Amino acid sequence: MRKTAIVTGSTSGIGLGIAEALAGAGMNVMLNGFGEACEIEAHRRRIAGRSGSEVGYNAADMSKPDAIASLVEETRERFGRIDIVVNNAGVQTVAPIEDFPRERWDLIIAVNLSAAFHLVRLTFAEMKDRGWGRVINVASAHALVASPFKSAYVAAKHGILGLTKTVALEGAEHGVTCNAICPGYVLTPLVEKQIPETAKARGISEEAVVRDVLLAAQPTRAFVEVGQLGALAAFLCSDAAAQITGTALPVDGGWTAH
Ligand code: NAD
Repeated sequence: MRKTAIVTGSTSGIGLGIAEALAGAGMNVMLNGFGEACEIEAHRRRIAGRSGSEVGYNAADMSKPDAIASLVEETRERFGRIDIVVNNAGVQTVAPIEDFPRERWDLIIAVNLSAAFHLVRLTFAEMKDRGWGRVINVASAHALVASPFKSAYVAAKHGILGLTKTVALEGAEHGVTCNAICPGYVLTPLVEKQIPETAKARGISEEAVVRDVLLAAQPTRAFVEVGQLGALAAFLCSDAAAQITGTALPVDGGWTAH
């Protein structure tokens, strides 16, 4: 029987790449995230068509615990089981702390950190009972190091590493692993949006942001690719990764080796 994965924030960017990789590895996938209905349906059909896996979609707003409960309920109704949870949905705001909008702090903590707690809270018992499960948290290099003007994001991403380790310890004797993938910069809409914000916060041009801020952080001087993260997520879901748990896995072109 095919395993089932929920991938939050999988209508775009990294989550979409992970959903494609997991479907390609034989898992049924529940997509989640915002966007145009026709675009999301096109992604759903493309992934299902290429992989032969069943692919669903649920529009839960991951900042809302009740919506997260509905996501879990609908996934169980449709697929009968939940084996893998990928906590990927994320938002970002770049601003100096004294100007940081309070409501953005609350939203970033809710989506980038608390949502993972809720999704694991609602699915962990099932994974433990079955004796097999995978929790993958898409954290960030910003779970390991900080940058200025990203107070909420860095706090949420450091927080999710703590959650990762705790869940790993609670799942260890039950065949349930939990790891954090820590990407460097990936050229997705989340990063494209912060280029003008960073230019404003630092008083430099957008070209300088890409060259002197984003790629300067990565010794390889190249963006990480979505497919590289999808491949790692699929590996973490394999039995070869059964002893990898509680880790933060950087995929950051050497950024955190500095
Ligand atoms: P993205 O903007 O392309 O995708 C974000 C996804 O999250 C979208 O599907 C969006 O609809 C969804 N989303 C946002 N708010 C949501 C909410 N309230 N409820 C449900 N879904 C919601 O961004 P991305 O770059 O692919 O980011 C994905 C994850 O990777 C995030 O957690 C981000 O912090 C992390 N990350 C990104 C980078 C990068 O350079 N792009 C680097 C490190 C970590």
